[in-house]
Amino acid sequence: MILKILIIAVLVTTSYGIKSYENYKVYNVYPRSEVDVERLNGLKNKEYDFWTDVVTVGNPARIMVSPAQDASFVSYMRSVGLAANVSIPNVKKLMDAQMQPASNADRSARLGSFSWDRYYNLQQIHAWLDELVTLYPGVVSTQVIGRSLEGREIKGVIIDFREGQRGENPRIAMIEGGIHSREWISPATVTWIIKEFLTSNDPEVRALAENFIWHIFPVVNPDGYSYTFAGDRMWRKNRNPANRVECTEDDNDLGNGIDLNRNFDYVWMTVGASSNPCSRTYAGPSPSSELEAQAIMQHVLSLKQKGNFLYYFAFHSYSQMILVPYSHVKGYEVLQASNYADMYEIAIYGAEKLKQRHGTAYKVGTSAEILYPVSGASFDWVKGVADIPIVYLFELRDVGEYGFMLPPEEIIPNNEEIMDCLLEMDKATRFLNYYERSGTNAVYISVMTLFTNLVFLVLFK
Ligand SMILES: [Zn+2]
Repeated sequence: MILKILIIAVLVTTSYGIKSYENYKVYNVYPRSEVDVERLNGLKNKEYDFWTDVVTVGNPARIMVSPAQDASFVSYMRSVGLAANVSIPNVKKLMDAQMQPASNADRSARLGSFSWDRYYNLQQIHAWLDELVTLYPGVVSTQVIGRSLEGREIKGVIIDFREGQRGENPRIAMIEGGIHSREWISPATVTWIIKEFLTSNDPEVRALAENFIWHIFPVVNPDGYSYTFAGDRMWRKNRNPANRVECTEDDNDLGNGIDLNRNFDYVWMTVGASSNPCSRTYAGPSPSSELEAQAIMQHVLSLKQKGNFLYYFAFHSYSQMILVPYSHVKGYEVLQASNYADMYEIAIYGAEKLKQRHGTAYKVGTSAEILYPVSGASFDWVKGVADIPIVYLFELRDVGEYGFMLPPEEIIPNNEEIMDCLLEMDKATRFLNYYERSGTNAVYISVMTLFTNLVFLVLFK
């Protein structure tokens, strides 16, 4: 009887408890040919968690392997002559370390109940947003732009230092965090930007904060983010079970979700996305099928009606890149984005400035050029359909040493360099006259961007 209870208890814990990553390893594998790439892609259906979304020749593919899979993984790699090196020997150890507050963090960097020496869960982030309304009445208000499938709020703040004094055509900017739930550094960066806007005395920060009405959403995938704390730390998608199929014997949870950053209705499901519900890059049954994606799209389109909607920034990790839309194009096709040359140049200035703070190197380009081709991403939709001028996706620290388990010690340095980057990008954007662009001078602007794109083509391609 006792044995029976014990067995039931174990079953319940493994089905509904927190997934353990004890002795899971991450391997770096180096594909040298398309045949290698195909072989690795074949492994994707065998429940290996690829930390690299899309495998490409010459770039290390990072693959997480469970203790049960380890022997067969290693022998397979050997049999096909692929070099596989252990980059993380025990994933659980890094996860535990990530839950501990940083020992060396700057304790003066605080706002209300928040410091940036640790990662916060959804409840804490939402409570903090409410706290800000009390701390900054008349400047901060919260807004809920929709609910997730499990009924959680998609919640953010509006920061407006000149409420009611902006005239007909106010400048508007929007920031999206946490669309991929396991990328914890993303909400930790977005909340820092909010803190800087509200507290910094630096004139450049003040200008950026006050020149725009900011709409900032630290966690747009609240179900997924909650699940990384309560269920599976490595969860990436939302938690929609509607298209669930049987995936593998070991992990039948994989089919319960859609990759929101493949779900948007722009060149949907054309490249770098999967139609298999078990995949971590499953694009969903149809374009913008997901409530979370719909909420973002509706909000972006409604903001567009309200003024000069100039910036949209999405934060992800990891890879250290500033991605310029569109993610599916490379070569001269990058010029499909009407002002690609401007966006590219602005990002180059940002990356140079970013490096000066802590020496961190960021690459700039389209995803297809510097990472891998992708379709259905939110920021591509914002550029391609909503036609917002300056749009980026940031892939934050690091380049794979800790990956998604970036230690809390790195939160503040990461945030400092990103803030430097944003300020520099804003300066370049202003210099290129984007602050004044709208309505009457739109034709002039179109001609100018066409010209700069041509110059870019001649100089860089
Ligand atoms: Zn991501």
